[in-house]
Amino acid sequence: MHTLQTCQELDAADTLAPLRQQFSLPEGVIYLDGNSLGVLPTAASARVAEVVSQEWGQGLIRSWNSAGWFELPRRLGDKIARLIGARPGEVVATDSTSINLYKVLSAALNIAAEDAPARKRIVSERSNFPTDLYIAEGLCRERGYTLQLVEPEDIAAALTADVAVLMLTHVNYRTGAMHDMAAVTRAAHAAGILTVWDLAHSAGAVPVDLNGARADFSIGCGYKYLNGGPGAPAFVWVNPRHADRFWQPLSGWWGHANPFAFTPDYQPAPGIGRYLCGTQPIINLAVLECGLDTVLAAEPLGGMTALRTKSLALTDLFIALVEQRCGGYGLGLATPREHAARGSQVCLTRDEGAFAIVQALIARGVIGDFRAGDGGLGRHKDILRFGLTPLYIGFEDVWHAVEHLRQVLESGEWQKPEFNQKHAVT
Ligand SMILES: *Cc1c(COP(=O)(O)O)cnc(C)c1O
Repeated sequence: MHTLQTCQELDAADTLAPLRQQFSLPEGVIYLDGNSLGVLPTAASARVAEVVSQEWGQGLIRSWNSAGWFELPRRLGDKIARLIGARPGEVVATDSTSINLYKVLSAALNIAAEDAPARKRIVSERSNFPTDLYIAEGLCRERGYTLQLVEPEDIAAALTADVAVLMLTHVNYRTGAMHDMAAVTRAAHAAGILTVWDLAHSAGAVPVDLNGARADFSIGCGYKYLNGGPGAPAFVWVNPRHADRFWQPLSGWWGHANPFAFTPDYQPAPGIGRYLCGTQPIINLAVLECGLDTVLAAEPLGGMTALRTKSLALTDLFIALVEQRCGGYGLGLATPREHAARGSQVCLTRDEGAFAIVQALIARGVIGDFRAGDGGLGRHKDILRFGLTPLYIGFEDVWHAVEHLRQVLESGEWQKPEFNQKHAVT
């Protein structure tokens, strides 16, 4: 039986609790949406001011060299590498997740087309994040491939001789279900299939070992668990075994081996550098670095392993409290109970009112979000989604969040009209 007091005791014993001091969180808010937009690192405001007034204002164009602007995508890539089982020089921070997916999926299809031209299919999960599916759909149209969407339990059976690429998101945005990256990659490789892993809900949330899993390509998001700010640059990793072959189609001058030679022909940079396209958003990269540093600050305290232990304790507590205190209100659990199959979020289902309940919670300062069932196809229910980021969420926060949820359900306040109006962004 959990009580407010046992939750407070867990906070008192939490060696990661001081990491919260790195963030500017608004008063009176319990923020359970760091899986959608991470919170503001306190260091970011001063860093932006420095980049703008000193590096840009005073340094002007000299800052590409003197302030290290030119190297930022690689330098930040090396920091991200530490979180995802990559080595220095294997990752760049650049562009958006969607655009990076276009690059790596193109590269994977190019390799497959050389090695196995008869393979004309991309397999993914039906409940993958839509932009991933849309990008794949666009590429299929461009190249005459087909996109096959399957349920998670049918992935193994879909790995057939006509498949070129298996494209999956490691942790599902809607349910928080996590794939066994190493096992799935092994099965794909055994069937002659390349893998593309989206780490949008993994990087900074769960330990990832891309090299250990022998994955082929990976991308991920900078503004979720990496706290890089709205629209922060994303990242790209490619297994070095593809190093001399991973041509990508957005062959802009920043991916050139020698951009300032200004030659008329394109010579790709060696290694991951060729995944850059054009001039990079330096201010955004500077903010992303502040976000990355908040996660790397956990390294002396046990790093991703320690963060994962706390994350599982938080999600376990959330599930237990919902079951202990919100029974009889029609809530279901979409997130797997098994630790190995769960990311850092808890997703609840409800036949009715999921959107309004989330709105009522937000009005009380408990910020989670709502994700619609799959376009009314009826396969998935609407979801109330709660991201539990161990860097700045404590056990008492979980207690209060579930208590608010209980009160919203008990009082029926979610039925008020103001909680039933949809906005452009949910
Ligand atoms: C958040 C997320 C994205 C976001 O893509 P953007 O290009 O940044 O809009 C992509 N894929 C997945 C799986 C995500 O969770």
